[in-house]
Amino acid sequence: MSGELSGKVALVTGASQGIGEACAWALARAGATVVCTSRRLSAVEAVAARIVEQGGTAVARALDVTNPEEAAAVVEEVARTLGGLHILVNNAGVTDDQLFVRMKPDSWRKVMATNLDGVFHVTSPAARIMLKQKEGRIITITSVVGLMGNPGQANYAAAKAGLVGFTKALARELGSRNITVNAVAPGYIQTSMTESLTEEQRQRLLATLAIPRLGTPEDVAAVVVFLAGPGASYITGEVINVSGGLYM
Ligand code: NDP
Repeated sequence: MSGELSGKVALVTGASQGIGEACAWALARAGATVVCTSRRLSAVEAVAARIVEQGGTAVARALDVTNPEEAAAVVEEVARTLGGLHILVNNAGVTDDQLFVRMKPDSWRKVMATNLDGVFHVTSPAARIMLKQKEGRIITITSVVGLMGNPGQANYAAAKAGLVGFTKALARELGSRNITVNAVAPGYIQTSMTESLTEEQRQRLLATLAIPRLGTPEDVAAVVVFLAGPGASYITGEVINVSGGLYM
């Protein structure tokens, strides 16, 4: 596997399945050395092994994004041993849906800890390395829910909207150092996160889309690879929706 990302090192959080796994594959196909991370080491080892089997370059590390010490240690070790860190994909995320009046503090905190704090924990050491390198791409997976809201997801929408502000602020701080910071906002993508939709919910949802199908993880990964590549060097602080027209 070789391409426009040859020579670049990319770290993906939550790469054990779904959108993160698709990003790892797409970055590897574009030639990057990919560090697949998630809480389950055996799962990311399996993803990395499959990429290597297909001729790509990938390694796996256990990384729970809610743990700031572990995040710093993994990011620093990877940059030291692999020759830098050029692309960070903040993908790890969870939901814990509940109508707001029934939402317990634990549910609020759990979603914030992974989706918002987790991005801070990983981006902080990564940005320091990219500043020294004078090169970097930071790509964060937010959600159209952070832009348009969704009943039952006040915690998730708040965290994902927070990532939009984070992206724009960081883009302004790091742009002069050749580091771009962007977000990708998927709509409904076919992964374990959306498999609990009932057939009725699915049909109602499809009726609201301009492109009447659920998205695939590969639809999202293609935009991530674009933002990581040379064609996106003058794009920063943007949120690109990949939602089949659910939100526009
Ligand atoms: P999945 O539930 O399929 O995958 C979530 C990934 O996050 C897993 O790899 C999981 O790995 C990882 N993860 C969860 N908690 C942690 C943690 N504390 N530390 C490290 N990794 C963690 O979800 P999707 O692929 O659907 O979602 C990926 C991203 O895309 C999320 O940020 C999500 O919010 C966003 N998104 C998804 C949409 C969809 O429709 N599917 C729509 C909009 C946004 P492990 O369990 O191995 O740690």
